[in-house]
Amino acid sequence: MENKAANSIQDLQYFGEFGGVNPSISDSSTYTFLAAKSMMDTFEGHTEGCYLYSRHSSPSNLYLSEALAALEGTETANVAASGMGAITPTILQLCSAGDHIVCSRTVYGGTYAFLKNFTPKFNINTTFVDITNLKKVEAAITKNTKILYCESVSNPLLEVANIPSLSKLAKKYQLTLVVDNTFSPLCIRPKMLGADVVIHSLTKFINGTSDTVAGAICGSKAFIDSLKNVNDGASMLLGPVMDSLRSSSVLKNMRTLHIRMKKHSENAFYLAQKFELDGIKIMYPGLKSHPQHELYKKISNPEFGFGGMLAFDAGTLEKADELMELLQKNSLGYLAVSLGFYKTLFNAPGTGTSSEIPLEERKKMGLSEGLIRFSIGLDNDIERTYLAMRKCLVEVGLI
Ligand code: PLP
Repeated sequence: MENKAANSIQDLQYFGEFGGVNPSISDSSTYTFLAAKSMMDTFEGHTEGCYLYSRHSSPSNLYLSEALAALEGTETANVAASGMGAITPTILQLCSAGDHIVCSRTVYGGTYAFLKNFTPKFNINTTFVDITNLKKVEAAITKNTKILYCESVSNPLLEVANIPSLSKLAKKYQLTLVVDNTFSPLCIRPKMLGADVVIHSLTKFINGTSDTVAGAICGSKAFIDSLKNVNDGASMLLGPVMDSLRSSSVLKNMRTLHIRMKKHSENAFYLAQKFELDGIKIMYPGLKSHPQHELYKKISNPEFGFGGMLAFDAGTLEKADELMELLQKNSLGYLAVSLGFYKTLFNAPGTGTSSEIPLEERKKMGLSEGLIRFSIGLDNDIERTYLAMRKCLVEVGLI
């Protein structure tokens, strides 16, 4: 598979307007025109390189968008004020009343809630399926289906989607395959595997400093233009615009993504192997015991490993809470939602980030209350971290 993602980011070359090595931050909500006609032409989308109003686009947002398009190998991209600010316009742009979506049943709780509780108000309905069962996915497609939606590596169960096979299905039934790649930037490049639209919550690994929420939609120029259309573009009209100051800081952080992803993966792989040997039932795509281990190897970029996320079941919520509090007390991470930080983050998604999913559904998919999801940090001495974590696991009786 194409192996150039990180290099493509570094190959991008743009100076600030005064020759600065970082592009200048655009500090304007609106832009002047020397001729009234140029303003009209820009409004109608006919002028390249002209800016109208920052909800539509701004130089800083375009710089970041270009870097994200290079990351994912898409024609272009559009940044948004949050991951949900990328997901919701994408869905609303692709679907009208009466349309149907087939979605993986293990997706981020906010995405699940949007499809389950919000879009039905507009008569857009969703069937949730086990995305690893292609027969079930195909059986769920109806004549009204427009979108096949999944996460490359799912939140929180770390199921791996077979993007090449899903892409074949999408082509067969003329669906748009939308893949949220938040958990696996650089590790997996969904567009190269046949996805049509790639979504990111930049809040996580890509920004990496847990100081902002941000999102992105990567896709064809035609699709991104449609989102920004002043008359009927969902991004333009719903308005989840990223501020220029933020896009400039996300862009600067993104330049070290390749180094960080390698370290997150290296550390998570080390811990996953060690804890599995200790008898803990670890969910991690890098382990042979993971049901989609071979698939992950086939569709991923080996240079960046198996990602920084791992999960295991502590048995009960009480046990999970006890362990997480102890880990935090020992400075081994923070009991916090989100992921991709330099420090390890952990939470019990059954009662937190996935609590939007009804209990019955959670049970069916194996999302137990005691499940702990870890975003493994950039610890320099992971062996020391392992020994300290192990002590905590022994103390709460899990080892
Ligand atoms: N997609 C995934 C896989 C996520 O984990 C999240 C947030 O946790 C989102 C999307 C939503 O992103 P944001 O919180 O930036 O709106």
